[in-house]
Amino acid sequence: MELQQTVDRREPPPAAVPFFTQAEGFAALWPLIERHLTEVFADGKFSHGAKVQELERALADWTGARHVVAVNSGTDALVLLLRAAGLRPGDEVVVPAFSFVASASSVVLAGGRPVFADIDPVTYALDPASVERVLTPRCRFLMPVHLFCQLADVGRLGELARLHGLTVVEDSAEAIGMRRDGVHAGLFGAGGVLSFFPTKTLGAIGDAGAVLTDDDEIARTVDALRHHGRFGRTIADFSTINTSSSLPGCNSKADDLQAAVLLAKLTRLDADIARRAELADAYGRQLAGIRGVLRLPTVVDRGVKADPVFYVYLVEVERRDELAAHLAAHGVETETYYPRPLHLQPCFAELGHRLGDFPCAEAACAHALALPLHPDLPIAAVDRVCDLIQGFYAGAGARA
Ligand SMILES: *Cc1c(COP(=O)(O)O)cnc(C)c1O
Repeated sequence: MELQQTVDRREPPPAAVPFFTQAEGFAALWPLIERHLTEVFADGKFSHGAKVQELERALADWTGARHVVAVNSGTDALVLLLRAAGLRPGDEVVVPAFSFVASASSVVLAGGRPVFADIDPVTYALDPASVERVLTPRCRFLMPVHLFCQLADVGRLGELARLHGLTVVEDSAEAIGMRRDGVHAGLFGAGGVLSFFPTKTLGAIGDAGAVLTDDDEIARTVDALRHHGRFGRTIADFSTINTSSSLPGCNSKADDLQAAVLLAKLTRLDADIARRAELADAYGRQLAGIRGVLRLPTVVDRGVKADPVFYVYLVEVERRDELAAHLAAHGVETETYYPRPLHLQPCFAELGHRLGDFPCAEAACAHALALPLHPDLPIAAVDRVCDLIQGFYAGAGARA
């Protein structure tokens, strides 16, 4: 009888917690998006047009970059930036062994060769000591990658680059809003990039990206490279085919439809970043009690004013895959950033690396788990995720 009553009163199963969605956010922004889209449709060009230029100006204002050159993805932004910054065939570029694959594949696509270095286990960014160990006489570039919530140690890495005559090119694809002493990610060396892939902090409704730089010449070259090597920007000049290509360029132009959406979302970016911080804080407070098996993200204090941005809320856990399966069984989606280090990716096999070469990168790949984090996520969902994690380590899942 007792049991029967309990069963009758059972609540419906809690809603699923998606890893990422921006469905709700669009409802509130729709009038603004519609206004920008109406202008794009009235203009009728759709590629490399006036709305793209408007986005570039707005992003230059927001980041403080002298130049923002919008392109079709963060990956192409990296390739074009490396080429514009003077990468020659066979040049080596120091890249962290723990990152999204495009950090290193962009080097190959630009004609260079990645040289991997290990990461700092707290920031997940290039470890300056490891960089010194892997440097060769053919290294001409250093590519810090800013992952998850904070900048790489751009102070020490910048000193190292000066000492060894390396050009710094930043993979700041995830780093919109991250600043050090007021300087935005991407502006500590020759230039950096942004990705507007939908899940990113500023996400489009498809692919888009940008190069950020304070260097006039680099901006001019990226501008040409994205458009078949044509120097001298004209809006929607696709009608003048093959007039004058000075470099073998790409078609990496940005779409005006994406620019329209991004301009609308840019008005909410500060609020979105604040909301991400609030959610990260809630995770941090609730997960702090789980000792020994879970490590929280740590924002490192380098003695200068820093603006962290929680693009991803990444914890390191024991029995990561079991925990992910446990959460998935309860409708909570997680992601593994990144399951395989770059030096062990099949596409870089010819570099001849082995398991054990970069232990910190390998350890991160084995333990890192990203929890749901996006501006529309309710605090109640964070509570639920944390309860499930606590339950896993305290009870039902605690075997092993
Ligand atoms: C997203 C991302 C990229 C690639 O950006 P796309 O726009 O998806 O091409 C490159 N590097 C890092 C670190 C990223 O997170």
